[in-house]
Amino acid sequence: MKKHILISGAGIAGLTAAIFLSKQGHIVTIIDRSTSFSKAGFLISLKSFGVKIMDELGLTQNLQAESSPSETVHFVETNEEIIQSINYDKMNENIERSVLISRGGLHHVLHEAIKKNVNILFDTTISQLEELEDHTKVTLSNGNIIPVDLVVVSEGLRSDTRNKYFKNFQQEDFNTLYLGGKLKQSHSYNVGVFKIYIDVHKMLSIYPIAQDEIAIQCYIRSFEDIGTIKNNTPSILKNSFHDYNGQVQKLLNDLLNNGLVFVDKMGMINTPNLVNGRLVLLGDAGYCPTALSGMGASLSIYGAKALAHFMEEYPNDILTACESYNRLMQPIIEKFQTNARNNAASFIPKSEADLEKFVNGFRAATDNDVQKIMTEPIVLTEDQTNFTLN
Ligand SMILES: Cc1cc2nc3c(=O)[nH]c(=O)nc-3n(C[C@H](O)[C@H](O)[C@H](O)COP(=O)(O)OP(=O)(O)OC[C@H]3O[C@@H](n4cnc5c(N)ncnc54)[C@H](O)[C@@H]3O)c2cc1C
Repeated sequence: MKKHILISGAGIAGLTAAIFLSKQGHIVTIIDRSTSFSKAGFLISLKSFGVKIMDELGLTQNLQAESSPSETVHFVETNEEIIQSINYDKMNENIERSVLISRGGLHHVLHEAIKKNVNILFDTTISQLEELEDHTKVTLSNGNIIPVDLVVVSEGLRSDTRNKYFKNFQQEDFNTLYLGGKLKQSHSYNVGVFKIYIDVHKMLSIYPIAQDEIAIQCYIRSFEDIGTIKNNTPSILKNSFHDYNGQVQKLLNDLLNNGLVFVDKMGMINTPNLVNGRLVLLGDAGYCPTALSGMGASLSIYGAKALAHFMEEYPNDILTACESYNRLMQPIIEKFQTNARNNAASFIPKSEADLEKFVNGFRAATDNDVQKIMTEPIVLTEDQTNFTLN
């Protein structure tokens, strides 16, 4: 039976959910707080199951068209000495495929796929929700009142609707500034050959993705609140990398002045239940592992498909559909969030001693060890791939 579904938040998670749910014939309304979409952000590495789901949606070609070349990544010390080099083709052997794409590029592909079928109301948020016996009454910030069968809350890590209507969650703070951006300018780096500097309290990635474009991302340990971090990003960045080589410093300076930059404080949501009545959390709003897990987008896309899968399995019982989605997601979330914590500890060492330990271990790792480190944490079981609940 057709349901009225409101999706609040038109990011990667919300748009993917809209594609699946509208394909099933549901009447979908999408709202987003922003006044237009931003192309800001770093690169997203869409892994095996994320790519497969994009294939199923018939979006492979569009995904490839927006993707960036990736050959090798060198992990280096600040003196440029290589710790470990990883070849992407080799790394992908165990996971079939992965696609490197800018967040804006992936978002664009999803938006193009849905924009003809579903209208997106920008500059609109949920003002109030009222649970009635057989539906939820939603008052929007534009004054409209709409009755819906399900509200999908895909508002990202800092979701207001989750904060207001879900009590039983915690926000895990990694006390780390995250900056991801792209800079359109020519450079002398080799396209597709990436460099990641590992250092005490920070990590810097430089990804030349075209002759005239570089993607840059960094993590810097910071105990300031999010507002202070956003207001002081330029000085935090400059102070953190002041002793790096001149080319790096110039790049960061150019990024701040001319780049498209996304800044946040790394965190993730832990909640024992993604469902509250006819409200369901999807994507970063409910379970984002930090950017360090590299799985935020893939997991959002997977979650959207999983929710749609159970909506189809229980067409007349939204509550059971949502409960099943929650049951499927919880162990997966736990796995990826654990990876994120481990990655944070390894790749952003807290002391010189931790740095040395990590560098020595990573340097000595064999190809097999590296394969394990990079690919084992990101696979799903067959049951999880098929949405089978045990
Ligand atoms: C502009 C931007 C740049 C990003 N850059 C990076 C990056 O460089 N690296 C990285 O790892 N991750 C980045 N992310 C986060 C990344 O997209 C997510 O981790 C992942 O793709 C999961 O997506 P999501 O849809 O759950 O959340 P998000 O991508 O955060 O999308 C949430 C959407 O909800 C909207 N929204 C927020 N609050 C409300 C509200 N109250 N009501 C209605 N709408 C609301 C937002 O405008 C946004 O469109 C970025 C996100 C955004 C929005």
